[in-house]
Amino acid sequence: MLPQPLPFEDRIIIFRVGRARDISLNQLFLVAISLILACTLVLGISLVGQYHRALRESDQDLVRLHSFREVLAAANRVSAERGPTNVALGRDSVANDPILERLASYRQASDEAIARVAPGPLLAAETKRLRERLAQSRGAVDVLLAQPLAERGQDKVEQAIFAMFKAYDATQPVIGTAMTELLASDAELIGLALIAQMVAELRDYAGRLGSYVVIAITHGGPLSGANRAAFEQAQGRIMQIRDMISQQMTANAAASVREAHSATERAFFTDGLRLIDETHQRQGTPGAADTPESFTDAIVPSFAPIEKLRDTFFDAALAQLEDVRTEARTALFFAYAITAVVLGLVLLLLLASRSFLFAPLMRARERVIDLAEGRLARPIDKRGLTREMLHLFQALAVLRSRLIEREQLDAERNRLTAALTVQADTDGLTGVLNRGALERAVKRLAEAPQPPAWIGLIMLDLDYFKAVNDQHGHAAGDAALRVTAARLRHTLRQGDILARFGGEEFVIVVPDAGEARLLEMAERLRRAIGDTPFPIDDGSTIKLSASLGVARVPANPDVWPQLLKAADGALYEAKRQGRNRVVVRSATG
Ligand code: GH3
Ligand code: MG
Ligand code: MG
Repeated sequence: MLPQPLPFEDRIIIFRVGRARDISLNQLFLVAISLILACTLVLGISLVGQYHRALRESDQDLVRLHSFREVLAAANRVSAERGPTNVALGRDSVANDPILERLASYRQASDEAIARVAPGPLLAAETKRLRERLAQSRGAVDVLLAQPLAERGQDKVEQAIFAMFKAYDATQPVIGTAMTELLASDAELIGLALIAQMVAELRDYAGRLGSYVVIAITHGGPLSGANRAAFEQAQGRIMQIRDMISQQMTANAAASVREAHSATERAFFTDGLRLIDETHQRQGTPGAADTPESFTDAIVPSFAPIEKLRDTFFDAALAQLEDVRTEARTALFFAYAITAVVLGLVLLLLLASRSFLFAPLMRARERVIDLAEGRLARPIDKRGLTREMLHLFQALAVLRSRLIEREQLDAERNRLTAALTVQADTDGLTGVLNRGALERAVKRLAEAPQPPAWIGLIMLDLDYFKAVNDQHGHAAGDAALRVTAARLRHTLRQGDILARFGGEEFVIVVPDAGEARLLEMAERLRRAIGDTPFPIDDGSTIKLSASLGVARVPANPDVWPQLLKAADGALYEAKRQGRNRVVVRSATG
């Protein structure tokens, strides 16, 4: 038997406990998922973005440092161009002059180096000025070289040499601009930039010292006046730079840099400077046989370690930047990986909590509501659950089977109670209502919300029944009583209430009947008994009759005793008048 839903009031108690929020758990869960995923994404993006920036910055540093290196290399070429220039200025040109060829190749190297300078908007303007300045200086030199040595004149040669100094000076704005761009990219590169610039400056001052010695050789005596002052000033600057570079050679400096520095100390600061000083000192003395060419050939190799130092320095710095870049790239990779893993984990966690926790809880909730509302038919589905959830659903299954058991017990009890009630209300012999049940039925009628205006009652008593028992036995009497009850029942209509009042007396209650209908009914009942003989066990029949008292009373709380009294009086009158008849008596009468 299917269980019945709980009464409405009970459901109210279940659902009105606590104040329900408007948002559902499912919506809440979706909002939480979206928020967590969004936060993870934002964190991941900011992490990845940070490392992307670091990588881009180190890329930029590398490009700028390369470009700074190109600028210094170009300046160095302009400075180096003075070597063959000085040599060419100090001798007569010959056909297919190898010196002029060397000068041409040096000039070409300068031009190529300048062309390699990265064409930033600022640098482009500065390099243009440098090219113009260089072309001017070279023009001044070329004018002299076209003349025989004897016609060139000391002053003109000096001015040509100074013009080449000015050409170098024009590299300074290029270097300054390149340095500004480098430091704008990364201010931490300032130390590196300054040293590199210093080494470039050292190379130029070394070249200038050489040029001054060439002037002294051409002059045929030691430098004097402004030239001497400039020469000594250059020497002083070189010593300053030497000190500053030495200070940088800490244990932290790269081994290759320190090695290049030692080579510079030996070849230039010791041997080179001594050669310059000695050559200058001996000019004008009888033993001096120096020419610009011999001196240049001797001194230029001592400049090479300075250039090597600058290159090594850049190589070390670039290698260091390369390391930073590799680190940045590795960090970026890990940032991507970590973000992906965290996102994956969060997603997995959310999906897992949805399918292993949230969805089963929602299912359990539905089933608990089912149980509370008495929908027990559907079995509890325990598939796809974790251990803890399985326990919950097993408990629900137990709860369901207990509820089903209780429903069955309730149904059985109700059935038994109903049977007992029927039994208590029924007359055992005839199966019609007994006297108690009839009394309760009349009370219910009288107390109904809309009671009938009148209640009628017919009291029926079999005539001379004692004689039936006496002549045919008690069992035959019982059978006759059962037949009587059956005949009465068949004569009645729906709504009429038949009861055995006791012994061989029956009572029929007729709600809302007029007196004529009551009388007509009583007459039919009388004939149902009296017109047809009763069969008895031995196959024969006996004739019976009944007397009937009829009463009719308006519905009121005391209707039962009033009806009984009136009907009993009428029945007594029917007996007195000779039996087998109907007598009516009204309650007021
Ligand atoms: P009258 O009513 O006409 O005055 O005569 P009567 O013989 O019917 O009178 P009375 O009421 O004194 O007798 C009723 C008889 O009904 C008494 C008893 O033997 C019989 N009787 C009562 N209850 C039962 C019963 O349950 N079974 C049988 N077999 N007889 C019963
Ligand atoms: Mg009788
Ligand atoms: Mg009697």
